[in-house]
Amino acid sequence: MSPPIATSPTLERAAPVVTKELPLKEGLSTTINTTAIKTVDEFAGQWDAFKFAPIRESQVSRAMTRRYFKDLDTYAESDIVVIGAGSCGLSTAYMLARARPDLKIAIIEGGVAPGGGAWLGGQLFSAMIMRKPADAFLRELGVPYEEEGNYVVVKHAAVFTSTLLSKVLSFPNVKLFNATTVEDLITRPLPNGEGVRIAGVVTNWTLVSLHHDDQSCMDPNTINAPIIVSTTGHDGPFGAFSVKRLVSMQQIEQLGGMRGLDMNTAEDAIVKRTREVVPGLIVGGMELSEVDGANRMGPTFGAMALSGVKAAEETLRVFDQRKAENDRA
Ligand SMILES: Cc1cc2nc3c(=O)[nH]c(=O)nc-3n(C[C@H](O)[C@H](O)[C@H](O)COP(=O)(O)OP(=O)(O)OC[C@H]3O[C@@H](n4cnc5c(N)ncnc54)[C@H](O)[C@@H]3O)c2cc1C
Repeated sequence: MSPPIATSPTLERAAPVVTKELPLKEGLSTTINTTAIKTVDEFAGQWDAFKFAPIRESQVSRAMTRRYFKDLDTYAESDIVVIGAGSCGLSTAYMLARARPDLKIAIIEGGVAPGGGAWLGGQLFSAMIMRKPADAFLRELGVPYEEEGNYVVVKHAAVFTSTLLSKVLSFPNVKLFNATTVEDLITRPLPNGEGVRIAGVVTNWTLVSLHHDDQSCMDPNTINAPIIVSTTGHDGPFGAFSVKRLVSMQQIEQLGGMRGLDMNTAEDAIVKRTREVVPGLIVGGMELSEVDGANRMGPTFGAMALSGVKAAEETLRVFDQRKAENDRA
């Protein structure tokens, strides 16, 4: 094993680095007035005089934690929770936030990096394929694409995902809690006693969720909300979370399981069947394929975007009713 870098004998013997003195622009003092810099172009040739504005370390900590804990407090009662920040979840959040700036929307993403499977096309290739008419969503976002007849091509999937993500996070009524896993669903009995309504989510830091088997007493946190939109992707170690939980809670009998690849059948089915699966829980994207036994579609993403558009519409269709039920309980 290499020694820590600070004690490396190679480094200790290394020749001192000679820095080249650069002349300052006429009229400038030895340090730049940092608050006076307005554009990055003004830095040019001034690096010897460059200095950051001073700070105390605790200011950095407080600037982060104060905001985060305020968000935890604000979003403990949310209007809508979206589980999963993949292409479907982000599309859902975008449409909801655009339509209803009055609603508080929390996105819970298990990974550190939001975006799910939409940073690449299929088999680690770059381009993202969207079949028409999903190109309407690209125009909505202002994502450029090439025309190819029945489909369009975004030159890199990351252009779609980064644009969508930045637009979603720019809405003041959206909060993304990443590195946070939904571990369970909050339920309330239906008035007729037959089944439950979903009324929130149980969360934990993902790193804690991953250690429930070898550490004890790491209880979770909760968010109440009248509507949950679950978009956790197809089955896997993390995927299809909510619908698998519905089976173990005996709220749906069994999962249909994702069927073989058929792009034409799969994409229409996912969009058309995006719906409220049990009261308070709307399921979209590839998670839905596990409920319905729909086909997989491979690396074509139009259904994920339009499933998000439909999930937002379904959410707003039932929102007032679910909110009234939730306020009573
Ligand atoms: C290499 C590759 C292979 C593909 N293979 C297929 C395929 O076989 N079939 C197919 O139809 N499409 C496939 N696709 C297309 C595409 O990736 C998926 O269809 C698409 O990503 C699904 O989007 P989604 O939003 O439903 O879910 P995802 O993009 O999978 O996003 C789900 C998100 O939910 C998060 N999450 C999961 N569980 C939890 C939880 N409990 N709490 C919080 N967050 C959670 C995940 O971290 C993830 O970010 C593939 C794409 C690529 C690049």
